[in-house]
Amino acid sequence: MFISVHELEQKKLDFDEEFRPGAIDFGPDLRQSEPLLTTGRAEVLHEHRGAKQVIQDVRVVGHLATKMEIACARCLDPVIHSVSRDFDLLYRPLGIDRKGDEVSINQAETEISYYDGDGVLLEDVLREQVLLALPIRTVCRDDCKGLCPKCGGNLNAGACTCNEQVEDPRWEALKVWKKP
Ligand SMILES: [Zn+2]
Ligand SMILES: [Zn+2]
Repeated sequence: MFISVHELEQKKLDFDEEFRPGAIDFGPDLRQSEPLLTTGRAEVLHEHRGAKQVIQDVRVVGHLATKMEIACARCLDPVIHSVSRDFDLLYRPLGIDRKGDEVSINQAETEISYYDGDGVLLEDVLREQVLLALPIRTVCRDDCKGLCPKCGGNLNAGACTCNEQVEDPRWEALKVWKKP
């Protein structure tokens, strides 16, 4: 859904959208496993700089919720993360801020990004917010044993035979005895 500055100049935009998995491109390493629900409001803010310059900023405030699958960093099994996040974002026209420019509005509660062209694509806003909400690295469980570096087998499912040593036959009797 495109949030057009031109349309925001006419009136504020309230949105209540549902994005099915696949509608937003999260790249090859992430999978959206449930519809992404978002509600919020977009409006244009006029930022006055000097006597003549008026900058059209786009403010997007809202909430999103979905579930994402990330591969465990050790065993690559999918791990589900629930994402539920509030956002309050300000988009300025790209190129308007030069380095060292003083920022004239209060950004205490607002993160600043930039938009290129006529507005902001809501999908881009949501993608970024989901990525920010996810951990950089995830493991399926703290004691995940990962994959065998030799055969690639998942060691959580049981030991592979790669590291089995030739055992002393004298222990065989004991092993049998230890089995339940
Ligand atoms: Zn794992
Ligand atoms: Zn192995």
